[in-house]
Amino acid sequence: MQVKKISEHIWSLKMWMIIPIHVWVVIDEEGVTLVDAGIPMMTKGITKFIEQLHAGPLLRILLTHGHSDHVGAVKGTLKKYEVPVYAHQIEIPYLEGEVIYPRRKKLEHNLPKALVSPLLDDGLTKLKKIGGLTPYFTPGHSPGHVVYYHEIDNVLLAGDLFTSKSGRLKQPMPAFTANMKQAVASASIISYLKPKQLEVCHGNTVFQPSDQLEEYIKKMERKLGGQ
Ligand SMILES: [Zn+2]
Ligand SMILES: [Zn+2]
Repeated sequence: MQVKKISEHIWSLKMWMIIPIHVWVVIDEEGVTLVDAGIPMMTKGITKFIEQLHAGPLLRILLTHGHSDHVGAVKGTLKKYEVPVYAHQIEIPYLEGEVIYPRRKKLEHNLPKALVSPLLDDGLTKLKKIGGLTPYFTPGHSPGHVVYYHEIDNVLLAGDLFTSKSGRLKQPMPAFTANMKQAVASASIISYLKPKQLEVCHGNTVFQPSDQLEEYIKKMERKLGGQ
């Protein structure tokens, strides 16, 4: 497992499994928040790192969405830390295996029922800040995908809203994306937030991502227009 401090309050933990898989550890005055939980093989590395950090106990796990490569270490981590797990309420029936993810053929029982709680909201679209992070609803890759914005560090933890290569924004993995058009529309969150740094689960850091947004959207519109 590769650990990297990416900003004052955030570390990324990476493992390779054909593609890179990242999770993020975020600290605040109260303790530690884990954003996404990768694959089961990452469990030991995650819990060990949190222990060594001495930044307080793990307080919660936040999920960008419920695909299996984002929830793998949840169960193992909960054996050590009994903490709540949150995802967008729209995502929960899909990851619990109650509803089939769009464009998939069968139910995915990625986490047991009643384990994941809905992120709290201030009305229909505005989600409540949690652990120094503000969630934003960014559907498309999955029906209830969210990104987490760390305002103080000006870093956006974007899950699978994008992938990236050599510092450039790339589309989320097409085979696993429920609605690419909607995912491209959700990408505009970066021009609204203007983070100085964007982190994705499957790729490397993108600096000043909003500078690339126009080009990204044009490229994707050309691509999708032909379908
Ligand atoms: Zn995904
Ligand atoms: Zn993924």
